[in-house]
Amino acid sequence: MNYNTAAFKAAYGTSSQLPPSEHPEVAFAGRSNVGKSSLLNKLFNRKALAKVSSVPGKTSTINFFSVDDVDFVDLPGYGFAKVAKSEKARWSELIEGYFNQERRFALVVSLIDIRHPATDLDVGMVEFLSETGLPFIIALTKADKLSNMQRGKQVAALRKQLRLPKDHVVIPCSAEKGTGIDELRKRIEEAVS
Ligand code: GDP
Repeated sequence: MNYNTAAFKAAYGTSSQLPPSEHPEVAFAGRSNVGKSSLLNKLFNRKALAKVSSVPGKTSTINFFSVDDVDFVDLPGYGFAKVAKSEKARWSELIEGYFNQERRFALVVSLIDIRHPATDLDVGMVEFLSETGLPFIIALTKADKLSNMQRGKQVAALRKQLRLPKDHVVIPCSAEKGTGIDELRKRIEEAVS
């Protein structure tokens, strides 16, 4: 896959607006501020294709990006506390609406901050992915903020908290240092091929 061809495709404000899948889809989910936009930009080799540090809680959309014949789906960041109930309902509608459709789900990348225990919403997302049998991997973000030793400890703690089988793919990543990006790309390639 040639990530240098990455291009923004479209943004959708409700799941009913989503057109049927055109290509295999690789979806990215995580709480607001987890580092999702930064990681997408790193994957795409671009500074600001996905919007970084947009005001948390601003009106959210599902954004599609294309790389060759694969669509990358940026799901709205969940769990920002300081927003109105109506906005939270919109997030759920978008995220659940997306997953409830018949789509070409090639892979879901569930992003979780490596520094902290997973939030209830993170746990809910991973449980949902496990129960539905969707193919998913975990990307642990901001790995550069921990020492190697702390990193190892957190990977083990999060695996335990999320009840992941031993062989389930968990990749410590850093958008800042590029850690884990090659492995993430490899897993994506395998999933879409
Ligand atoms: P999003 O809301 O999930 O899209 O998160 P952003 O990509 O906007 O990142 C949120 C904040 O975390 C920003 O201040 C980023 O600079 C910071 N951040 C994102 N990724 C990393 C990373 O790999 N390392 C470090 N140290 N900071 C990061």
